Amino acid sequence: MVSSRTDGHVKFMVRTLCGCSFSTYVCGQSYAPSFSIRMCRTDSHGSGRLMGSTACRRPTKFFFEGSTALLGAKELGMTKAPPKVKFFMWLVLHRRIWTANRRLRHGLQDSDDCNLCSQASETCDHLFVGCVTTRQLWYRLLLPLGLQDLTPLTEESLGIWWLRQRERLSADSRPPFDTLLLLITRTIWTERNNRVFNRITSNLAAIAQEVIREAQCWCEAGYTSLAHLISLWSQNQVVL
Ligand SMILES: [Zn+2]
Repeated sequence: MVSSRTDGHVKFMVRTLCGCSFSTYVCGQSYAPSFSIRMCRTDSHGSGRLMGSTACRRPTKFFFEGSTALLGAKELGMTKAPPKVKFFMWLVLHRRIWTANRRLRHGLQDSDDCNLCSQASETCDHLFVGCVTTRQLWYRLLLPLGLQDLTPLTEESLGIWWLRQRERLSADSRPPFDTLLLLITRTIWTERNNRVFNRITSNLAAIAQEVIREAQCWCEAGYTSLAHLISLWSQNQVVL
């Protein structure tokens, strides 16, 4: 049985196998219609068990059945950093930035050599974890903090490395580490783009100084979790 309301909703009368009936309204204008179904109060076998009222799950939830969570997405959502840098990191975790390897796969260039070390294929994981230049930068910045053990040692997935290293930290040390990760990742990408598009190459000391300068800017902009790191960098001279 079907009847319609003035607001565009269509009312359905549904009769179940156990003989009970209930009504539901379906929005006829919505792209993904939502259902609100009031179930019968006894189950279909007449056992007398109360089922109560419940609401059907939204159909949109079924669109994502079988999908897997992006590694690091939850932590990225909680990280304090400028929105454009968080969006950049979201692209990195999805491997959607135009590294040399990705450009080669799309036929946009002939070589996928890393623009920082020229020793390996430039993928996201190599550029931000496995590259020798990146690892040296991490070491120089983590040493004054006493966290040099977190320096990446081998090439692996950025998301896996990030989550494993933050597990080694105390709860209050994780927010600054997360912000530092985004800051270093973004700085490495900027340095890589400078080398590719502007033909300007900075040495490790200059890149480390750029990270510290950018950290001070972020701190002044309200991302104060970096303040403690900046004071440690100033107290314990960064190895240059
Ligand atoms: Zn490299």
